[in-house]
Amino acid sequence: MIYLDNAATTRVAPEVFEAMSPFLQDEYGNPSSVYALAGRSAAALEDGRRSLAEFIGAEPEEIIFVGSGSEADNLAIKGTMRKKDGGHMITSAIEHHAVLHTCKYLQEEGYDLTVAGVDQHGLVDPREVADAIREDTRLITIMHSNNEVGTIQPIVEIAAIARERGIKMHTDAVQSLGKVPLNVDALGVDMMSFSAHKLHGPKGVGALYIRKGFRPEPIIHGGGQERRLRAGTENVPGIVGFGRAVSLAAELGHEPVERMRALRDKLIAGVLEAIPETVLSGHPVERLPNIASFLFRYIEGEGILLSLDMKDIAGSSGSACTSGSLDPSHVLLSMGYPHEIAHGSLRLSLSRYTTEQEIDTVLEVLPPIIQRLRDMSPLYPRR
Ligand SMILES: *Cc1c(COP(=O)(O)O)cnc(C)c1O
Repeated sequence: MIYLDNAATTRVAPEVFEAMSPFLQDEYGNPSSVYALAGRSAAALEDGRRSLAEFIGAEPEEIIFVGSGSEADNLAIKGTMRKKDGGHMITSAIEHHAVLHTCKYLQEEGYDLTVAGVDQHGLVDPREVADAIREDTRLITIMHSNNEVGTIQPIVEIAAIARERGIKMHTDAVQSLGKVPLNVDALGVDMMSFSAHKLHGPKGVGALYIRKGFRPEPIIHGGGQERRLRAGTENVPGIVGFGRAVSLAAELGHEPVERMRALRDKLIAGVLEAIPETVLSGHPVERLPNIASFLFRYIEGEGILLSLDMKDIAGSSGSACTSGSLDPSHVLLSMGYPHEIAHGSLRLSLSRYTTEQEIDTVLEVLPPIIQRLRDMSPLYPRR
């Protein structure tokens, strides 16, 4: 099969599987216990922490492992706002639901929320964020890159505004890790969220970077693991896998990313050339190297996905979290696309394992699929 849904999840790299394997078998110690078996688990945990910290220019103590990217977002947002009663936070309209729904939940608890809009490319305007700041603003949370259209946000500018006003800055960098250089000091952020399974690591393990000197309120209470910020016996195999996924990305360097970008560009150019009345959604340049997202007029994304599936090609329409609902993506609507156009969306997301032959096959198969669906569509203008 041709797997082009790497923004939803990725395959576990063989190197990652190999690193995890002992910790799913003989090395089952609880890192909090005292004997040698437990000590090896504790050491493996700290190796994973060091890999991630090094990769983003942080200190190991600044990394808190959690159960998912969603949990990292929840810890950053709830953990910051709940340090005090009330106060104001700012987010954007194109966030992942792990951020957007968390902010809206806090709004129901009585906190104030401003949702900044985006332009037609899905970009947040730092001036709009600056203008939304109030006396009592305590948190700005804007994603590093968008999971549906791939647009990369001007986080350096927004974080500088936050810092100048003494406001905590969080960014969801789940899609960016391993694809775009991320350095916590260059970005100037206070918190940053990650998830292993978007980077050829296992599902069910995430991390939150928290700048030294700041301590959010925990959202899970119990034992003293993870500097008392996240109770629960650590997911040792998961964290080992996460650490290996990150060290592997570091070892491989730019080359696979640039190859992925070239294939992504070939895919975009080929689709736009072969299929009329198609737009590339998201920013033309400031975008992740692996996401190609399109809007095809007159047809529905669901139909495209089913036709692709019959050819053993996996893609997505909108985000995995909202498929199954009939609403078009909140991201595309926020970018100003009308409902009927937002419905015709297709996201193809590549990985380092994507081959040129796979992209050539998609470029062969997709144009006739779109034409057939348009021929059946009552919206398609007959000639
Ligand atoms: C996938 C994703 C998440 C959620 O991560 P999980 O580990 O699946 O909970 C959060 N934010 C973005 C941008 C994502 O792409």
